[in-house]
Amino acid sequence: MLVVKIGGGTGIDYDLIADDVSRLVRAGNKIVVVHGGSALTNEVSEKLGHPPEFLTSVSGYTSRRTDKRTLEIFEMVYCGQVNKGVVERFQQRGVNAVGLSGIDGRLWEGPRKSVIKVIRNGRKMVVRDDFTGKVEKVNTGLLVSLLEQGYLPVLTPPAISYEGEAINVDGDRAAAMTAAALSAETLVILSNVPGLLEKFPDESSLIRKIPADEIEQFMDVAKDRMKKKVMGAMEALADGVGKVIFADGRVENPLTRALEGEGTVIGG
Ligand code: ADP
Repeated sequence: MLVVKIGGGTGIDYDLIADDVSRLVRAGNKIVVVHGGSALTNEVSEKLGHPPEFLTSVSGYTSRRTDKRTLEIFEMVYCGQVNKGVVERFQQRGVNAVGLSGIDGRLWEGPRKSVIKVIRNGRKMVVRDDFTGKVEKVNTGLLVSLLEQGYLPVLTPPAISYEGEAINVDGDRAAAMTAAALSAETLVILSNVPGLLEKFPDESSLIRKIPADEIEQFMDVAKDRMKKKVMGAMEALADGVGKVIFADGRVENPLTRALEGEGTVIGG
């Protein structure tokens, strides 16, 4: 079992990724795809006159301020254009993909964090009415039955809160929870960098291998959004996933190359 997270940054080539994933599915591999859509959400939010806003938590993590309007735009982009675009690409390649958000079938469930402590202009503040949270439970039964019937699940945020509200969750960490719940051997996170870079953005500073018990030390190397990937990797490995690979989603055969050892291989 393999979980593949496809990022949404500029340069990521959905067609090359779909070619490679389709080939591996046809060869009999059980794969679950998770995707993001952050960059496109920023663009659409600007166009709709509701520009994106990012919050920095007291512990130093950034997340999208998700008020009700942002959540609506988020769903238009993630569940609409991106999810259907990815599913269509697989259908064109003869792979019967099914697109689902974390709301559908309560696929990704967890607590909503309606009060967030943030730092704004150097001062501590509390933000309320945010629709964000994290995935704690995965409906593996639904995923396994789709896989057994030969479907390729294509999953996207939002998730659903225990109270039944749509919540914005980080795609990398949702992918990590999914890989853990399915006891996947490998989680591959494809983005627009070759992997974790010691000196970002110098691509020649790629870190090739990180033993599972040393991953925590790399939290400082990863800046801003890359931190969520390192955190996801940490969570996946702690929950029994064999290895996590950060690899380049801009190249031909990105998944095959990652599985052959390109990128940053963590654990394994
Ligand atoms: P995606 O949308 O593909 O999930 P993100 O944009 O969230 O990806 O995260 C990947 C980005 O993280 C890279 O494009 C890069 O700008 C940034 N980044 C920060 N620190 C690092 C690092 N040490 N190594 C690689 N990328 C990094």
